[in-house]
Amino acid sequence: MARFPFLGADTSRRIAEADSVAVIGLGRFGSALALELVAGGTEVLGIDVDEELVQSLNGELTQVVRADSTRGEVLQQLAVDEFDRVVVAIGGDISASILTCSVLLSMKIPVIWAKAVDDRHGLILEQLGVHHVIYPEKDMGRRVAHLVRGAALDFIEIAPGYALVKAPVPSSIQGTPLGETGLRKKYGVTIAAYHHEGGSWTNADNTTVLEEGDMMLVAGPTSEAESFAQLR
Ligand code: ATP
Repeated sequence: MARFPFLGADTSRRIAEADSVAVIGLGRFGSALALELVAGGTEVLGIDVDEELVQSLNGELTQVVRADSTRGEVLQQLAVDEFDRVVVAIGGDISASILTCSVLLSMKIPVIWAKAVDDRHGLILEQLGVHHVIYPEKDMGRRVAHLVRGAALDFIEIAPGYALVKAPVPSSIQGTPLGETGLRKKYGVTIAAYHHEGGSWTNADNTTVLEEGDMMLVAGPTSEAESFAQLR
């Protein structure tokens, strides 16, 4: 029988009414996600079967409770069915991940995010009807490959084939207003933002003049944005 040392159904009902998310599985991924949500002002109900983990996050999340999420009646008691957004961050135990998602889907949670450890796991979650399936290891591996390969200091692919890349400003466009560099025509990219050394990030426009030592945020098709970021 699951125990609920820190939580009454009334408390979780109150959390569900606020700008809130339930995070199930508080391993490295789930706890990082939950803590970041809390840091941004979102109320978080954290659930994990591991007592020690639950104890360690007590006080860090809005509420944290030890429970087995594969059991529908337990999630019901915790008022998880009243949340609009639930994240399932269980990876290693694929059957627990699938069972949990299936319980949540039967509760008609409007938006379910679930982590998949590989394509097979992800396919099952998608076929079940999970709204957002995420592949943290795969996505991070691909992202780091772009960082390792080029001069990019940060890289994010917004959608397949379109990226935002952070890189130093190449000498060929230094000292010229962006509107006069012709870089959209020449390189197929846009500089969305920049920052001067010691300054803060600012939106770029046609009149922006970048200097040596500035950093830029390039938006464009992945290969073009990456090639442009490699210019010196
Ligand atoms: P990470 O990489 O995020 O550390 P992982 O991919 O190794 O995690 P797991 O270890 O399977 O994934 O699960 C993450 C967390 O989910 C663990 O803390 C585990 O205790 C918890 N968990 C696993 N099964 C259940 C369950 N049935 N109910 C609640 N929590 C669960």
